[in-house]
Amino acid sequence: MFCPKCGTQIPENDHYCPTCGEPVLGKTNVPDETDHTAMFEEEDIRRTNILSALCYLSFLFVILGLLIEPNSKFLRYHINQSIILYIFGILCGLVAIIPFLGWIAAVIGSVACVVFMVMGIVRAFKGQAKDLPIIGKYMIVHYD
Ligand SMILES: [Zn+2]
Repeated sequence: MFCPKCGTQIPENDHYCPTCGEPVLGKTNVPDETDHTAMFEEEDIRRTNILSALCYLSFLFVILGLLIEPNSKFLRYHINQSIILYIFGILCGLVAIIPFLGWIAAVIGSVACVVFMVMGIVRAFKGQAKDLPIIGKYMIVHYD
């Protein structure tokens, strides 16, 4: 790998050019466009991470969260993700009305729902704001 600025060869696993100090986009520091953690304040995350995790378990926590922490951006991020997940879950139930193909889709969708729910809970609890796969890119509740 060579420095994009000065052309010096950069040792593997180095994130900066040894000659000019230019940051190098290696495997480990490629920006992750689905990870929004950096846009939230640490204090906000510390205050609301547990409440954010709970939002994935029950819609009641979404309502509760909006009532007690209406200004938390981190909480709103996870409320947005969990609402998308609830809608996805409802759609999985609706599609089950269609025999056979709908049933298969509903089963696959329900498994995905549970996996996404666990991912959301773990990430919220750890103070991360990383979009859920496939469904996570939509925004219903604005958080920025
Ligand atoms: Zn360089």
